[in-house]
Amino acid sequence: MNITATYINYYRVCKRKLWLFANEIQMEQTSDIVADGKVIEEESYLQRSERYSQIQLSQNYSGLSLSGKIDFFDTKNKIIHETKRSNKVEQAHIWQVKFYLWLLELNDVEAVKAIIEYPRLREREEVFLDDEDIAYLKKTIREIMAVANDKTCPSVINARICKSCSYYDFCYSGEN
Ligand code: SF4
Repeated sequence: MNITATYINYYRVCKRKLWLFANEIQMEQTSDIVADGKVIEEESYLQRSERYSQIQLSQNYSGLSLSGKIDFFDTKNKIIHETKRSNKVEQAHIWQVKFYLWLLELNDVEAVKAIIEYPRLREREEVFLDDEDIAYLKKTIREIMAVANDKTCPSVINARICKSCSYYDFCYSGEN
């Protein structure tokens, strides 16, 4: 299995979402919210394409394949820039970019920090990586493998975030 930042993000949001995605039940293309997020990313990309580089990274860790695509890396200032639509799952975004920072470190590429930008909210969040974060990411990867390989799909979480999840119809279509 190839673990990407999406796995890290979904692990933080919902174990069921992670399991569905890892088992190739994917709904992202049918979600308006996901499509909306992609428009924001593309608009940001047009504005920044000349200033930043796109980097594709991969690394083996403990027999597992890790990979990530960083869309905006400021090679001069060594800063990752990530654009998001909303901050409803802020912790998932934070761990996604920490995973990128770790991947850079594993590839011997120096990085100072990441900045998550929420253009519609006019907010930004600076993210750094320390040794405790790396230990947490290592533990997270082991737990992702356990969830993904479990034969049983985890239960729905009945959380507010479900309404903006691409799996909402799949998860709740049987309910009144
Ligand atoms: S709709 Fe809710 S329970 Fe279903 S995958 Fe998404 S976050 Fe998880």
